[in-house]
Amino acid sequence: MKRIFIALALVCGAMSAKGQPQPTNLIPAPVEYSVHSGNIAANKVAGLHEKVRISEKALLRLLEGKKLADWQLKSAYWLELGKKGVKIVAADEEGVFYARQTLKMMASLDSTVSCCAILDWPRFRYRGVMLDESRHFQGKDFVKKQLEMMALLKMNRFHFHLVDNPGWRVQIDAYPRLTKLTAWRPVSFFWDWEKNEIGGLFVEEGTPGAYGGYYTKQDIADILSFANERHIEVIPEIEMPGHNYETRAAYPELACSLPNGGKDPWELCPGKESTFDFLEKVLLEVFDMFPSKYIHIGGDEARKNNWKLCPDCQARMQAEGLKSVEELQSYMIRRMERFAHAHGKRIIGWDEILQGGLAPDATVMSWHGTEAGLRAVKEEHDVIFTPTHYLYLDHHQDPAQFRPVGRQVSLEKVYSFNPMAESISEADAHHVLGVQGCLWTEHVQDAWHAEMMLYPRVFAIAETGWSQPEKKNWPDFERRASVLSAVARKWGYTVYPPLPH
Ligand SMILES: [Zn+2]
Repeated sequence: MKRIFIALALVCGAMSAKGQPQPTNLIPAPVEYSVHSGNIAANKVAGLHEKVRISEKALLRLLEGKKLADWQLKSAYWLELGKKGVKIVAADEEGVFYARQTLKMMASLDSTVSCCAILDWPRFRYRGVMLDESRHFQGKDFVKKQLEMMALLKMNRFHFHLVDNPGWRVQIDAYPRLTKLTAWRPVSFFWDWEKNEIGGLFVEEGTPGAYGGYYTKQDIADILSFANERHIEVIPEIEMPGHNYETRAAYPELACSLPNGGKDPWELCPGKESTFDFLEKVLLEVFDMFPSKYIHIGGDEARKNNWKLCPDCQARMQAEGLKSVEELQSYMIRRMERFAHAHGKRIIGWDEILQGGLAPDATVMSWHGTEAGLRAVKEEHDVIFTPTHYLYLDHHQDPAQFRPVGRQVSLEKVYSFNPMAESISEADAHHVLGVQGCLWTEHVQDAWHAEMMLYPRVFAIAETGWSQPEKKNWPDFERRASVLSAVARKWGYTVYPPLPH
């Protein structure tokens, strides 16, 4: 029966195509899409009878010899939408989920949907969005709203940037001052806080007018259960050794043994054992909260000036035979990697972790450009590409927009990024895990502004992460992005350019 059905689907696909690819408004573009005769009113799609078959064998038959990696097979699906119902074949629940997201998107984008068959699987296993909640805090409902859109776009990694200089955003029972004090500041807008006389003050929780907030362990559990239902893995980031102004404000003993903790107020002291005690206790609680096998340990932008002067750091370098402060950073990251491994976790770090020698099993987030990532791939490390010129969403889309910052990273520019540079050999290709858009929020205070920076550019990142390169087509994507943008606006998302009120 199934074979007859497949044969029919192929015939219908061929007949309808007549040499012309059929248009679809789907983002990301599916691998194979063929239109059958007949249409269904979009509002009837959700009520159609659904027949689901979870069987790897059945899916492999539909794939007709196409070679997919195991992780691709898990996400792959075959979907047939007919007037009488929907049929889904997948090897795993994840594939069924993506088939349903496809149906949901089709039924949302148009008033009528063509009967069709779709065979689809992702190009990359890591399709992510990062949100910086330290500079400005949005909270649980905002995060869930973005996870909902990510799921619709078949994105599967949410990188939660929870801690940084201007605020610590997650409950740690062993160190309560991180949230009783350094989750709160006397002024809301980051640059006012950073540049004013008030210069980096924090205030106790409950102080009238205090700006900030943090996630309790229950909040994190809620977010994780919401993400889990949508096949999204949440990867927490706990920064070290730089970007730790707030940590030092809560616990000044974590700074170097210099007057006022040294000239550089961002850095932890890797010379002291107590710094490692702190980090390990924090990480143990983070590991308990987040089941992801990854922990992002930051590792970026440590200037290391204090370390050259601090007696504890100098003693550590001598004892460990470290020739430079770069090697001292590497010592710290390797030591934290061993700790993570002992608890069944792997580390991800920004590309500065390449300095002074990369920890043996670390995954690199290549942000300065793509060179660091290409180097890490050559050294047999996994890489996630987040190059600032293409995928940093704090940069403006258009110089005329609200608070334009950085360089112009237009939708077309984001869409043009190719994570698979020609210099990556076929044998090394599996080290390229995928892509991620990063929303840093120095100048992004409000929820509507954050969404305007995310959308529609996240649509482009979703397509780069999921769709096969030959399916990428800028004019067609631009058309589809405008259809999805209109729908997203109806759902209450702010999409650039925002509509006039
Ligand atoms: Zn030190």
